[in-house]
Amino acid sequence: MKKIVATAVLIVTILLVVLSYRATTLFHDHQVEPATGITEIGVDEASALKHFSDALKIPTISHDDRSNFDATAFTDFHDFLKTAYPLIHQNAIRTVINDYSLVYHLPGSEPSLEPVLFMSHMDVVPVEDITSDEWTYPAFSGTVADGTIWGRGALDVKIGVVSLMEAMELLLSESAIPQRDIYFAFGHDEEVGGSDGAAKIAEYFAKKGVRFDYVLDEGGAVTVGLINTVDRPVAVIGVSEKGYVNIALTVEAPGGHSSSPPAQTGLGILSRAIVRLEDSPFPADLSHINQHFEFIGAHTAFMTRLFMGNQWLFTPLIKRMLLAEPGTAASIRTTTAATMISGSPKANILPTRAKAIINLRILPGETIETVKQRVVELIDDDRVLVSDEYGNNPSAVSPVDTRGFGLIAATIRGMDEDIVVAPYMLQGGTDAKYFYPLSDNVYRFLMFRATSKTLNYAHGIDEQVPVEDYLQAIRFYYHLIRQSMEA
Ligand SMILES: [Zn+2]
Repeated sequence: MKKIVATAVLIVTILLVVLSYRATTLFHDHQVEPATGITEIGVDEASALKHFSDALKIPTISHDDRSNFDATAFTDFHDFLKTAYPLIHQNAIRTVINDYSLVYHLPGSEPSLEPVLFMSHMDVVPVEDITSDEWTYPAFSGTVADGTIWGRGALDVKIGVVSLMEAMELLLSESAIPQRDIYFAFGHDEEVGGSDGAAKIAEYFAKKGVRFDYVLDEGGAVTVGLINTVDRPVAVIGVSEKGYVNIALTVEAPGGHSSSPPAQTGLGILSRAIVRLEDSPFPADLSHINQHFEFIGAHTAFMTRLFMGNQWLFTPLIKRMLLAEPGTAASIRTTTAATMISGSPKANILPTRAKAIINLRILPGETIETVKQRVVELIDDDRVLVSDEYGNNPSAVSPVDTRGFGLIAATIRGMDEDIVVAPYMLQGGTDAKYFYPLSDNVYRFLMFRATSKTLNYAHGIDEQVPVEDYLQAIRFYYHLIRQSMEA
């Protein structure tokens, strides 16, 4: 008996030693050295604020119904840029793409170097009529008050357009001469998918044979209090994004009067198909979380490292914990959401055609074809026709051991050494998805602080940006562009 207890104690001790050893040694500090030369710069704050405010007054709205497109707002926005940023318009080659999107090209002295592309978008989402009274300041007033800039598009993402332009204008005023070509590209329909803007910009570059050292778009931020395993700010840089597809399930049936129905109507057949899909969600995959965790691991609590460092033992538990919350579940699996269904137009008529839409967000690594195949197999009912209606495949995953990622990370840390930088996968889509044919290194980040409150402002009521964050975004782009210009 004594022997059994002794053996058990020994086994538990060895196990604890192994677990702790992995927890303490597996996660070395991945943080890059802060960039040097990140000094205070001469931003004219009053003029920078005036420009941001002016940009927000122009209602460059993207409507789901593209026939509501207001061309004047976009040409007004182009005029605003010309007036506000004269040096850029003197020094850069400006190309209008598909009437409303813009490309600026500042040629470098060494054309053999691959250029760098900074992206943003000029369009904003509409303000719903019923909410317009709830805004503290009118949504298109461009009000600057209480240390804050208010307005639709402030956060998503005129802060990007305006701070890129401010930074470049300042660099040109200091007679900066790039070695490497720098491009800016501003789409005009990101909020409705980017097919008229960013997609056409990407085609334009492809035709010219331009390839980029790296591409930087919106889609990451300095999170504060959002990643609860780290008690420091975490700058997340998007290295991939999920795909999107609407899969239609259609059932054709004879129809007739509902007083003498068959055992199952078209809607019944569809309902069973949907239940089967919901009962067998896509498998969980920790690889994207693991890539992120490698960067933050060294800064997390011991218990977190104990679990993450011993996935040979804890994978099922980690998956169960992450799958318990829809937000974290979406970061480790392809999600399935039945969102629309239609049957017959009248209560007493059997549907001749029943249709449902399943919206899936696809994890990088899978494709529209592979998820469709799985849907067909799960439903396993040849009365249900499965077709994909609209979608785009998930992006590739951009590498993190590149000059571009290193520059972005080092610049962020150069501005505030306390910030931990980590790659992550976006659950939504950005214009950046169109640029994979032009560069392997496509990143998403914008220098502003994202808190749980901030995130509600994007597309929401009282969209706003603290003045301090705006100035910080200008400083960030200034230093990043300055370094990116070099060979
Ligand atoms: Zn956006």
